[in-house]
Amino acid sequence: MIKSIAVLTSGGDAPGMNAAIRAVTRTALQMGLKVYGVHDGYLGLYKGQIEELTRRSVSEKLGAGGTFLGTARLPEFTDPEIRKVALRNLHIYEIDALIAIGGDGTYRGALALNQMGLPVVTIPGTIDNDIAGTEFTIGFDTALNTVVEAADKLRDTSSSHRRCSIIEVMGRNCGDMAVWSAIACGAEVCIAKETGFNLQDVIENIKNAAQHKRHAIVIVAEHIVDSEELAREITKATPFEARATVLGHIQRGGSPTVRDRVLASEMGVKAVYALLDGDTHHCVATNGNQVISMPIEDALNGDDTQQTLREYEVFKVLW
Ligand code: ADP
Repeated sequence: MIKSIAVLTSGGDAPGMNAAIRAVTRTALQMGLKVYGVHDGYLGLYKGQIEELTRRSVSEKLGAGGTFLGTARLPEFTDPEIRKVALRNLHIYEIDALIAIGGDGTYRGALALNQMGLPVVTIPGTIDNDIAGTEFTIGFDTALNTVVEAADKLRDTSSSHRRCSIIEVMGRNCGDMAVWSAIACGAEVCIAKETGFNLQDVIENIKNAAQHKRHAIVIVAEHIVDSEELAREITKATPFEARATVLGHIQRGGSPTVRDRVLASEMGVKAVYALLDGDTHHCVATNGNQVISMPIEDALNGDDTQQTLREYEVFKVLW
């Protein structure tokens, strides 16, 4: 029987992680469980950086960006000997189960702990929206709003100067950030892993835009093309002078949007209920209007390319 749980955040941080920790903590306390927070993800689990959480520990955290528990990367966690130390630390505190909030790496770490006997439930916390099985991850909506706000500002200045703005966003493995923000800011071109890239098509689209407007926006997912090189090509072949802006880590910051706060709260509640219902190697996920729980392996082996491509079709219709 589960009497005591730990919660941690791991991998890349995402706005809304605090709201998820708060929801986990308050739900568990209400169910009569003891709750412990682990600092700095699996690194803190290994080092024994564990503290008991109360209702007060998570007060005024709901709207704060980042993660107050901290996060870290520990590549050595693939080593079973390192995980044994982590399990021993949980044992010292008589902790029966773990809720880990993070991306697919965090999911793999949790699964590896489960294979050594620990019940785990994971919560998708990553701005990239790159976890299959869930339509949305915590932090994606906030990051998307950050990108669109930046794109709107760049449009003001590029329009004044008759320029093309190339905006590089995060999401090397999943183009959702690129495609959704391209729709939301009315971009001329969107380049992501799933959409492919043809320089001649890009040039044609920009030339077309130049005939009737004073600016053009190109959204590029990181590591797909060289943004600076693309700017040079566009400047050479179209009437626009192109400038590249890499948004970088600004996309990870900021207070979570209402949507991310609600999603994080719903997922935090569900994660605790799932553990108490006997789930031992599961993740929570959105499916339609519901938050569900499913085996972590299914999420890791799934493919959500179709969701990205469906959105890309919307983008193309609205060119
Ligand atoms: P994210 O969770 O955002 O995808 P990472 O990929 O960096 O971030 O993963 C976070 C951490 O999860 C890693 O630093 C490592 O400690 C742990 N991890 C990742 N993959 C594995 C694995 N195959 N086995 C055990 N632990 C892993």
